[in-house]
Amino acid sequence: MMDFSEIFVGGQWRAGGGGQADSINPADGSLVARHGVASVADVAEAVEAGQRAVADPEWRTMLPHVRARLLHRIGDAIEAQAEHIAALQTADTGKTLTETRALALSAAGTFRYTAAALETLDDALTTPRGPYLTMSVHEPIGIVGAITPWNSPIASDAQKVAPALAAGNAVLLKPAEWTSLVSLKFARIVEEAGLPRGLLSVLPGPGATVGDAIVRHPGVGKISFTGGTVTGKRIAAIAGGKLMPVSLELGGKSPTIVLPDADIDHAIAGILFGIFSSTGQSCIAGSRLFVHRSIYPDFMARLVAATQALRVGRGTDGSTQVGPLVAFAHRDKVAAHVEAAKAAGATLLCGGQAPQGEGYDKGAFYLPTILADVDHGAAICQEEVFGPVLVAIAFDDEEHLIAQANNSVYGLACGIWTRDFAKAYALARRIAAGTVWINTYKQFSISTPFGGVRESGLGREKGREGIRAYMQQKSLYWGLNDQPLPWATPKTAL
Ligand code: NAD
Repeated sequence: MMDFSEIFVGGQWRAGGGGQADSINPADGSLVARHGVASVADVAEAVEAGQRAVADPEWRTMLPHVRARLLHRIGDAIEAQAEHIAALQTADTGKTLTETRALALSAAGTFRYTAAALETLDDALTTPRGPYLTMSVHEPIGIVGAITPWNSPIASDAQKVAPALAAGNAVLLKPAEWTSLVSLKFARIVEEAGLPRGLLSVLPGPGATVGDAIVRHPGVGKISFTGGTVTGKRIAAIAGGKLMPVSLELGGKSPTIVLPDADIDHAIAGILFGIFSSTGQSCIAGSRLFVHRSIYPDFMARLVAATQALRVGRGTDGSTQVGPLVAFAHRDKVAAHVEAAKAAGATLLCGGQAPQGEGYDKGAFYLPTILADVDHGAAICQEEVFGPVLVAIAFDDEEHLIAQANNSVYGLACGIWTRDFAKAYALARRIAAGTVWINTYKQFSISTPFGGVRESGLGREKGREGIRAYMQQKSLYWGLNDQPLPWATPKTAL
């Protein structure tokens, strides 16, 4: 097992000023590793090292195609170690190996895509309105704080670090408290791939101290945050005081809609994947299901049977579809949401408890759960559970559906199941969401922008424009006059 006792501050491995913390395997409660924790002083040192690194002419003047080569090397190194990263992430988060392998490979793909995109980013000659030439160019911001959640660590790290480095910045990465191991491993990979010292620091620690210090530090020029809406708003308020740009990828309570003409087999498979993969711990989980009343009883009977057939178990078991939740405390929070919904009158169609029997007793497991017969204003329809809990609602007509689907503070994603593409298009355009999947769900491409509306976020990540989000634009005017500017020139009498 790798040694995680040291953290990565400005290119140096050393003990963090915040002591040590334990990473616990949620499949059985065992200790995965102790790891170092950063302090506020470590943050300050990481910023100083980052400032030196971005000012170094080697990095400052490095041409995009050379920086791209470095990003390719990081991508290759992640892929070469994908199995190790996946095993580590499964131990740390409980996610299945199938999921963590896919996340590691997607992180490698993110670095490669970003490298390719970087080589094609153009500055522009803009249209002049006088005897001058105008250019619009883009420059790095300087120091970027990347703050990530625990649900998909290596993929969220890559999604922020790759474009921030591509844009020429230094990055302070703060992983979530429950999942710091993968980010420390990521730092080793990046270092070995040859990133100049000081351009990446990995600072595990509590959000309230280490995360807050990164956000508040005057030397940090941008925060890219993925996490809960409450935290995101707090960060945005501090950023407002500094007039600092922020990208916020926040929570969701995404609707999935089944119209009467849908292909039912496809819809059921998509809904199961949308809510129960990653044990529901996904910002884009399709957690509110709307089914047309004419097909509701039969559809729900099939969905419940398919849900009960899902295999719950350890992430290391190849046949597992639903692993444990990330932590015991989080499992208890998910269970409390379900109990509160039942107390408020919801009908439990399946799940609603931890699985019983050997292999389950020591882990943070919870059965895939479906609730029904709730008013759409109920807490279970409005609050993000971030666990394997689906709430089902019948709808009568399109207006009724849209009113309910859009009755949420969130606006992250939406799924629509129908064979009628014109209807799907019209619906997709009326739902408040950053991403709409039609006859599919939870598919992701690094080339397609991602983000939310309303309280699901601010700004977009991914896509070619994703690199621009870590740059600042500058305009250059080049005078072409063959005479001095006329204002200062004495006028000759007429
Ligand atoms: P969280 O907001 O509690 O923590 C996210 C990160 O922010 C962690 O690294 C945490 O340490 C840090 N943090 C906490 N308080 C902070 C503060 N005051 N200042 C600076 N940093 C602070 O969220 P979580 O529980 O780790 O993650 C789950 C949430 O993330 C869910 O709401 C989920 O929907 C959301 N999420 C969103 C996306 C997306 O792309 N939209 C993706 C994954 C998760």
